[in-house]
Amino acid sequence: MKKLALAFLCFTAGVLTSAIGAQATNKPWLIEVHGGAGDIARDTTTPEQDKAFRATLAQAIQAAGKVLNSGGTSVQAVESAIRILEDSGLFDSGKGAIYNAAGFNELDAAIMDGKTLRAGSVAAVRTAKHPITLARAVMDQTPHVMLVGPGADQFLSSIHGEQVDPLYYFNEGKWQALVKQLGSEGKPIPLRPAGAPSAPAALVPAGGLASVEKPARHYGTVGVVAMDRHGNLAAGTSTGGSQGKLPGRMGDSPIIGAGTYASNESCAVSATGVGEYFIRLTIARDVCGLVQYEHMPLQQAADTIIHTRLKKLDGVGGLIAITPDSQAVWSFNTPGMYRARLRQGAKMNISIYSDEP
Ligand code: ASP
Repeated sequence: MKKLALAFLCFTAGVLTSAIGAQATNKPWLIEVHGGAGDIARDTTTPEQDKAFRATLAQAIQAAGKVLNSGGTSVQAVESAIRILEDSGLFDSGKGAIYNAAGFNELDAAIMDGKTLRAGSVAAVRTAKHPITLARAVMDQTPHVMLVGPGADQFLSSIHGEQVDPLYYFNEGKWQALVKQLGSEGKPIPLRPAGAPSAPAALVPAGGLASVEKPARHYGTVGVVAMDRHGNLAAGTSTGGSQGKLPGRMGDSPIIGAGTYASNESCAVSATGVGEYFIRLTIARDVCGLVQYEHMPLQQAADTIIHTRLKKLDGVGGLIAITPDSQAVWSFNTPGMYRARLRQGAKMNISIYSDEP
């Protein structure tokens, strides 16, 4: 009789445990992706550009969805989507990284695991093909959170990560954008990167470099937030930083709590915009703080930070964010932000301009 009772107890406990487990492992997954905010408007975007941006956002979010569908973690999903955006050359990230004032590229990235609060980040790296993968290696393979400058590149080399030549990042359009900006600011123009093809003559303006108009503001950082089937959150951000920045300048993206943050207790955030404001306001952590301590709905928390606190300092930019209870929002105070959302089993939402949902 005793044995029977014990067997019944074990059976009941087993059923309960697996029910709780099944529930936890079968949570519908959720992903959001951004490709930067800025002066992005219909009348300055060609149909081809519009199509290319949407297609790349779709490709990245679908890759992350595939990871989560097959039981992968949110950290894996975030990394896989960001790698695609880094490779695309369309955004200020990875291959598409913009130039600093001295005419070379320094890249920043961060990733955070909301389940464990472990995080990895790199700043001012010069040879990484995939800064997000390097950030993940810092998280997984070192006792540290952040590596910067030559130390980060040395670490990349020591783990035999993918390293590239400076010319990998060369792009005539991005170079000309730098020349335009420095020209309009009356700053010295650095030498063209060694080995780059010579500049097409038509690109030099008739009135000299000082005659160029002020370039449009576009913050093309990329970022991803995801929740996996276990309900665990992760966030990642990867950027070339702000165009014409001083060498050694670090933005908000690699700073945990500023441009990137994830905690299962509150939310996951990836931000984009003028990093200096996002650092001063600890934007990503503040959004999660409002959710965690004030129990604010996520949209209200994000809007409070972007439309009230950031606006008060005249800061520009935006963010994507999700919570463990499947709230998913974005908020930005610029004319556009490249962004996409995908919930398991639902239709994908890809938007660029502010009048899109
Ligand atoms: N936040 C980035 C930085 O300041 C730039 C961006 O979002 O495009 O480095």
